Amino acid sequence: MEKVVVAIDGPSGTGKSTTAKLLAEKLDYMYIDSGAMYRAVTYDVLSKKINPADTRKIVELARNARIEFRGDEFFLNGKNVTKEIRSIEVTNKVSSVSAIKELRKILVDKQREYAKKFNVVMDGRDIGTVVFPEAKFKFFFTCDLNTRAARRRQDFIDHGMKIPVEKIMLELKKRDEIDTKRKESPLRKAKDAIEVDTTNMIIEEQVNLLLRRVQGLD
Ligand code: C5P
Repeated sequence: MEKVVVAIDGPSGTGKSTTAKLLAEKLDYMYIDSGAMYRAVTYDVLSKKINPADTRKIVELARNARIEFRGDEFFLNGKNVTKEIRSIEVTNKVSSVSAIKELRKILVDKQREYAKKFNVVMDGRDIGTVVFPEAKFKFFFTCDLNTRAARRRQDFIDHGMKIPVEKIMLELKKRDEIDTKRKESPLRKAKDAIEVDTTNMIIEEQVNLLLRRVQGLD
């Protein structure tokens, strides 16, 4: 039977991942955090001290990368890198690495493989536009920048890090700028995606809104 794809796109810090994960649990679908895949390659590039301009080497890394989602944990070539891929260094570099066309092709192929075997909820930047233009359900999350920065700051505090909100705001803006202006699969709303502004919503509301759509109740 044809597998179901729920695509959730939008800028960083709009609440996509948390919503996607809970929605996948409720539907008993597989949750795929596509950003984690781009982060993993970026982590590999940084830890192997590869020049971020060396496209050929980066593409080779991605081609050979064994990426696994195991529950809440993320493994790269057998190593648990769940924490490492969220580091500030990786966050600062991921948008430039993920702008590489050949790298995207490799990761997009991997993302499509998952959806051949499982019903998936996948979040990212180009899921509804490029990876699964035929997805049955597409959502595009937006959120006011101040709120996004405040949420990110709280995430950091929960992980024991205190980072000034101004610094977080700058990082979000910079990533938005690269992600929306890049030539390859820029971040944009698919024509048929439902826009969800999460500024004044709590997670439960977001999850329920999507759940009702997917279950055909709304
Ligand atoms: O979702 P997350 O913030 O972890 O994504 C990290 C980065 O990975 C994004 O800022 C973007 O540059 C890249 N990305 C992408 N395409 C996706 C998912 C993430 O280019 N589908």
